[in-house]
Formats: sequence, structure tokens, C-alpha cells
Amino acid sequence: MENHERFRREVATWLADNLTGEFAGVRGLGGPGREHEAFDERLAWERHLAAAGWTCLGWPTEFGGRGLSVAEQVIFHEEYAASGAPARVSHLGEQLLGPTLIAFGTPEQQRRFLPAIRAVEQLWCQGYSEPGAGSDLAAVSTTARLDDAAHGDGNGSSPANGGAAGGGWIVDGQKIWTSLAHVADWCFVLARTEPGSRRHHGLSYLLVPMDQPGVTVRPITQLTGTSEFNEVFFDGARTEAGMVVGEPGDGWRVAMGTLGFERGVSTLGQQIGFRRELDGIVAQARATGTIDDPVLRDDLVRARMELRVLRAHALRTLEREPGPDVAVGKLLWAGWHRRLGELAIRARGARGLVTGGDLDEWQRLLLFSRADTIYGGSDEIQRNIIAERVLGLPKEPRSTEERR
Ligand SMILES: Cc1cc2nc3c(=O)[nH]c(=O)nc-3n(C[C@H](O)[C@H](O)[C@H](O)COP(=O)(O)OP(=O)(O)OC[C@H]3O[C@@H](n4cnc5c(N)ncnc54)[C@H](O)[C@@H]3O)c2cc1C
Repeated sequence: MENHERFRREVATWLADNLTGEFAGVRGLGGPGREHEAFDERLAWERHLAAAGWTCLGWPTEFGGRGLSVAEQVIFHEEYAASGAPARVSHLGEQLLGPTLIAFGTPEQQRRFLPAIRAVEQLWCQGYSEPGAGSDLAAVSTTARLDDAAHGDGNGSSPANGGAAGGGWIVDGQKIWTSLAHVADWCFVLARTEPGSRRHHGLSYLLVPMDQPGVTVRPITQLTGTSEFNEVFFDGARTEAGMVVGEPGDGWRVAMGTLGFERGVSTLGQQIGFRRELDGIVAQARATGTIDDPVLRDDLVRARMELRVLRAHALRTLEREPGPDVAVGKLLWAGWHRRLGELAIRARGARGLVTGGDLDEWQRLLLFSRADTIYGGSDEIQRNIIAERVLGLPKEPRSTEERR
């Protein structure tokens, strides 16, 4: 415990000392609905974090991480959020692909990609969802086939475009809602590599470079007017033969492994961010006088109490091996945050919905928090998981196609 307090002070001191000078301006920037804010400056900040050894804290030391305990990682994320440090730009590499490569990758893949992720020299995006495959991910129809003419060797000697000159895998299809694809160097793609295969059979998990003629990224404009996710088109895109994680055809298992890493220790830091938002809303309510509305007061108090429940639940979940009950946490925080967006507007009274052009922070919160109950598995899907895998209720009827 004393060690934890010492570590907490070390993190807080480092952040306070370093969020100054050239990095003073990045405080509070970025995050859901605001990823466009000061991207280059946040990238520079994150490389500064990496140089000081504050990235990939939970990765084992033999893979370049610091091998910190869950408790220490939670402390880091809490202090990071409390300091007002900006939203991270490399979380998809650090939290999703990195742990996936550590668990399923070849030594060559680990040597090639992990140092670049740790140093924030390479950004990644997640190519799972398609127009016909979201909640039902096993319906993926993007294909990849090996070009028998000349296989890439995957040993890292090829140029950054992953052997686009010939050989290796050829990828065709469309992904959608691909967060940060417009700034990513690489994408981890779930693709069908066995022609005629169905559902979760015959899929492979491929690493595909984004900077090549066969990849087109088209931004999707959100309600907030910003574009942080995209459509990604693969049209004869190429990657080396060695860029398959796990065995060809075993992509479902690897893809599910990645999702298992998705709900991790950063949840506690996320809640510190929620607390700051709630404090800001209370301040708004005081400033506008809406704090005198007894219904709003009641809802603000309820929000604060629910946030404490969220924290208790998250801490309890982290003590156990990840299992289906993480769905409870996702369901709770997503609904809570969505309601917070509504509270933000109510707290501001009549001017809450008026814009003078650009949306302000609270209007963005209202609009972007609509997405909270969709990404990372929608509320309905979480409820299905809880019903079937936590409570053991009868499974929902599957179609004939799905049963195959
Ligand atoms: C902000 C944001 C960022 C995202 N980033 C990424 C990313 O980086 N990479 C990526 O691959 N994807 C990403 N996604 C996509 C996300 O994973 C999907 O939106 C999500 O899985 C839902 O899929 P869908 O949009 O196709 O909706 P659908 O699956 O078509 O669902 C439509 C509606 O039907 C409901 N529904 C579906 N199936 C069932 C069922 N069996 N029982 C009950 N109800 C059901 C859903 O809950 C939903 O309300 C992102 C999404 C958002 C909103």
C-alpha cells in the first residue's frame, strides 16, 4: 500500500512537471467527439510520455513494457486523468494490438511492431466492422487471398507499405466506423481467407499497411460535425505473407482475444474524466441558476452516487479474470454517460441548445455520448451476453445460417 502511494506521487509529480512549457497547451484536449483537437501536439506529448517510460505499463518487460501490476496501472490512469493530460492517440496499438501480438504473434511480428507501438512511432486502427457485420461480426465478408506469384517473407526487410510491390496477401472489401483510420499507419483486419467458409470459420487476422494505393480512407461526418471514424476500402490492398497473426483460418480466436483486452485498466481513468465532467456540469448549474430546480438537483446527486457504484464495480471486475460479467460494466457506464450528456444541457438552461456556430464542450458531450451505447458492443448485445453467459438464460434463437 505504501508502495502504491509512493507510485501515485511519482506519477502525479511527473505529470505536473511535464504538462508545462511546450505541453501546457494540450491539457484537457482530445477524447471522444474531440479527437480532432491538437492531434500533432498530442502525438508529440505521447512520444514524450513514451521516452520517459510511461507507455505500455502493463506489457511484460521482455516485450518492452514495465510489467506493472493492475493496481499500479489503475493508479497511473487515475492520475493521468486527474492531471488533465490529453486523451491518448495510440491506445488502439497499446491496448489492443500490442497485447494481441504478445499473446498470439510470432517473434518476428513482436520484434517488428511492439517497439514502434511502445515508442508511439506507429499508430494502428481496428478493421473489424463492415456495413453488413457489426454486432454480428462473424458475417465479415472482406476477403484476403495469398498471391502465389511471390510471397513476402514478413521478416521486416520490406518497405513500410508491407510489400505492396507484389506477393503476400491481397485484400478486398470494405470496413466501416474505423476509428482514427485517417491517422493510422497500419490496420488489424479481420478477413475471410477460406473461400466459401461461413461465420467464424475461415477468417484470418491480418496486419495491413494503410499507406498504399489499394487502401482508401473516407471520413464519416458525425453529429458533432467532426470525423473521427471512417469508411476504409481495400481494393487489391497488399500485405506480406507473414502478416497473419495466429494461423490462417484461426482469425476468429485471435479477434476475440483482442476484444478481451478492450475493457481494461483505463476504465478507472475514464471514470475520473467522468467525474470532471460531472463537476463541470454542477458548476454550470450553479452559474445558470438551474441548480435551484429540485428535479435537476436530484438527478445530479443520483449521477454522483451512480458514479461511485461504477467505480466499485470496475474495481471488483479488475480483481477477477476477464469474463462475461464485464458486459455489466459496459452497460452501466455507457448508459450513465449518455444520461450525463442530457444533464449537461439541462444544467445550462435555455441556452443549452443554442450554438453560435461551433458546438461547445457540453453540446459535443450530448451528441457524442449517443455513441457510447453502440461502440464496444451495443447495449442490446451486452444484455444478451449478461442474459446468456452470466445468468444462464436460454439463448436467443439463431438462424440456420448462424448455426452452421
Ligand atoms: C464511435 C464509434 C467508434 C467505432 N470504432 C470502431 C473501430 O475502430 N473499428 C471497428 O471495427 N468498429 C468500430 N465501431 C463499430 C461498432 O463496433 C459497431 O457500430 C457495433 O458493433 C454495432 O454494429 P452496427 O453499427 O453494425 O449495428 P448493428 O449490429 O446493425 O445493430 C443495429 C441495432 O440492432 C441491435 N442488435 C443487433 N443484433 C442484435 C441482437 N442479436 N439482439 C438484440 N439487438 C441486436 C443493436 O444493438 C443495434 O441497436 C465504432 C462504432 C462507434 C459508434
